[in-house]
Amino acid sequence: MLVAGVGELVTNDPELGEGPLGLLRNAAVAIEGERVVWIGPTDAAPEGVPGPRIDAAGAAVLPGFVDAHTHLVFAGDRAGEFDARMRGEAYAAGGIRTTVAATRAASDEDLRANARRLAEEALRTGTTTVEVKSGYGLTVDDEARLLGVAGTITDEVTFLGAHVVAPELADDPAAYVDLVVGEMLDACAPLARWCDVFCDRGAFDEDAARRILLAAADRGLGLRLHANQLEHGPGARLAAEVGAASADHLTYLSADDVDALAGADVVATLLPVADLSTRHPWPDARGLLDAGVRVALATDCNPGTSFTTNVPLVVALAVTAMRMTPAEAVWSATAGGAAALRRTDVGRVTPGGFADLLVLEAPSHVHLAYRPGAPLIRTVIRRGDRI
Ligand SMILES: [Zn+2]
Repeated sequence: MLVAGVGELVTNDPELGEGPLGLLRNAAVAIEGERVVWIGPTDAAPEGVPGPRIDAAGAAVLPGFVDAHTHLVFAGDRAGEFDARMRGEAYAAGGIRTTVAATRAASDEDLRANARRLAEEALRTGTTTVEVKSGYGLTVDDEARLLGVAGTITDEVTFLGAHVVAPELADDPAAYVDLVVGEMLDACAPLARWCDVFCDRGAFDEDAARRILLAAADRGLGLRLHANQLEHGPGARLAAEVGAASADHLTYLSADDVDALAGADVVATLLPVADLSTRHPWPDARGLLDAGVRVALATDCNPGTSFTTNVPLVVALAVTAMRMTPAEAVWSATAGGAAALRRTDVGRVTPGGFADLLVLEAPSHVHLAYRPGAPLIRTVIRRGDRI
């Protein structure tokens, strides 16, 4: 396949083009199988590339979005809770238990169908790589079941048994932590690449979170945290201490937290729709970027606090509300998401990487923020397949 006539190609490789996005003008991309094999000027494109030729007709082309934080495996919805919150009630982490009850009662088939539907929705708005967490089972069997469903969607599967304490052990949280670090991790570690812990008010405290993360690392899982979403707490510093790939949310951060994240190369994954739909403040993206922290942008797609799969919306909010530049936000939704998953084969358009490309209905990446809510994803190519 050859994608030619690209008005602006975002490569995310500064050695290949202009600025931090590595922009090329009048470019073409040659694809063989699942991989990009060549990029350069359209008039120098190689002859005889097999497969179709797509004429971008001057439009912008960028890497597919890498959504590094979702909770796609669940049943039921929480529109009633959302309605109550919009009428002024406060959000607490316990709302998760509503989804746990619905998810435990659902069949594997229904969970797979719901997750598949959301993943396809995400693909239509340009998400070509998605991380998917468990966390609505909270028993050994249900967490393993959810990870199995997640594995039908993606390779980036995250064990989140420590989302909240299981309702049947609400009076004995220490017993639940014992279960997570023992039998649950034994069953779940082989089904996951990552372990995440919700370290915040109403979820897990610092000592419990550390114990779970270290046990997961012992079993070979990479680490990530839900941290500093609801109040200023220990999560961000703990992410730096344990060498997590990513700390996510980070709505309430001190200057020391920011320094710790920068020093440990923890990616800060910001989830602005969660802040929007819980009416919390915006995270300080500028402070993180100015301190040298790599920032990712993700949806946090979940039925309670951020029920969207739409990365272009996240990019638009990051620019207009959080003061990221359009170039920073596009990088964070592509290469930044890849960094949060410690991947270098997605989130960029470079020879040898996966052929995950978006052709925009626009001449420049800036339009993703400039035209919030507009359907700008004209064509999605995932692993060399035009969707
Ligand atoms: Zn989340």
